[in-house]
Amino acid sequence: MHEPERFKSPEYLAVLGEASTSEACHISSSALSAMQEAAKKDYPLEACGLLIGSINSGWQVDEARQIENLNKERAADRFQLDPAGYQSIDHELRGTGREIIGVFHSHPDCPAKPSPTDMESAWEGFVYPIISIYNGEVADILCWSLNENGNRFQPLSVKYSKK
Ligand SMILES: [Zn+2]
Repeated sequence: MHEPERFKSPEYLAVLGEASTSEACHISSSALSAMQEAAKKDYPLEACGLLIGSINSGWQVDEARQIENLNKERAADRFQLDPAGYQSIDHELRGTGREIIGVFHSHPDCPAKPSPTDMESAWEGFVYPIISIYNGEVADILCWSLNENGNRFQPLSVKYSKK
């Protein structure tokens, strides 16, 4: 698979950290297919959305919902979540014990590695799956979170569950 040169640049390598041994991301099969569908539907533009679930011994993602990418000018390689979409889901989840625990987005024709731009908008405690999609077909999904210092993304082990 083609990896654009910028993914080998010092700026890109600087946001990648070591794997965390302790924490895993559990993703339900419905959340997985929702992310794959969103990435395919919006290809060759970037799709993005929110992950809903709970955090206890790692991230438990039970639902993924696509949110509009407001970055229309550079939608091929940038995303900006619609804040209204965020707020309405946040509001809906209040008191349910479920919460927003991460953000997914796709990388059309690029590897599933975070970019320096992804770092700028990353929040501590959130999980960040990235869906690599080449020629409209999902090639890879990797999950990331910020490290303790909040200055690099660490790759997480991912476990897929049936529900
Ligand atoms: Zn990205």
